[in-house]
Amino acid sequence: MMTQTPIPLLEINDLEVRYPAGSFLSRLAGGPREVTILPGTSLSVRPGETVGLIGESGSGKTTLGRAAVGLAPVSGGTIRIGADTMSTERGRSWIRMRRDVGLMFQDPVAALDPRMRIGTSVTEPLVIHRMLEGKSRREKAVELLRQVGLGAEFADRYPHQVSGGQARRATVARALALNPELVIADEPTAGLDLSVQGELLNLLNELQTRLGISFLMITHNLAVARHVTDRIAIMYLGRIVETGRSQDIFAHPAHPYTRALLRARSATRETAAPLTGENPSLAARPDGCEFHTRCPLATDHCRVAAPQGRSIGTGHYVTCHRAEEVLAGVGVADPAAGKFLRKSTDMETTT
Ligand code: SF4
Repeated sequence: MMTQTPIPLLEINDLEVRYPAGSFLSRLAGGPREVTILPGTSLSVRPGETVGLIGESGSGKTTLGRAAVGLAPVSGGTIRIGADTMSTERGRSWIRMRRDVGLMFQDPVAALDPRMRIGTSVTEPLVIHRMLEGKSRREKAVELLRQVGLGAEFADRYPHQVSGGQARRATVARALALNPELVIADEPTAGLDLSVQGELLNLLNELQTRLGISFLMITHNLAVARHVTDRIAIMYLGRIVETGRSQDIFAHPAHPYTRALLRARSATRETAAPLTGENPSLAARPDGCEFHTRCPLATDHCRVAAPQGRSIGTGHYVTCHRAEEVLAGVGVADPAAGKFLRKSTDMETTT
């Protein structure tokens, strides 16, 4: 796995995504007001790198992945993929950039039309972009399916005729159809049992090594992130609150939210809430540090002053006034367990 290259393949700067009053999301947030899902979010993925984007359900991570390919309403900021920069206007650049990015949706049913044979589904992006280039559609489907360990016979099957793991492999094949440099994988292992999860993650690792693809892996599952990522970014209410090399974040989490996620064994289960307390309404974001309503370390200062992102080590950035105290672990209440930690090695991580 790579850890350092100078020029990111994907570079997202100050990205804003808002949904207007009256939209489904604004009603969900209890509004009539505009709902800001991403309030100015920045993230990068370097060539050959796997970055994990981690947060609870509703943190905005899926919106960021969709916005990166023009599938969410971008109202501000920039997105650059390779040499192309997206604007907020929809047009040719979005179409071209979407061609450079493979997408793995969270729900394979959304990617594999139940009425289509799998071979037809995996080659659909090639037909849309008119890139079949001399091969028959079935030939290309078989070639793509072979890359993900599925035999030619799967091209003729329908999604209901294959297992969940095989359907997920087919979604990987579809994501690879256009030879992308970057794949955005949204919860790639959700709903799979542990052994199938492991096989799928091994496949993604192998594809990265063989094809040099970069991955943006969107997941709530820390075990997945630990297994496959070079760097991780922790998202809360649409903001990246901590980012760094995976081994640094797992060994030395510096934000109370990260630490709480890591301590919660239940964070590996889709239905479990890794933290107590509910996310604040997106239509009424808290003043100061937006995590203060759930953070047991919050001070009066935190309630009025928003912390700025700052470096606390090589490539390690955190947005917290008290990061050094969290790192030192002395006299700092653990947000998840309510205990007092002596040092960071007391921290228990999910496996
Ligand atoms: S800035 Fe304050 S409220 Fe926010 S995470 Fe840090 S300690 Fe908690």
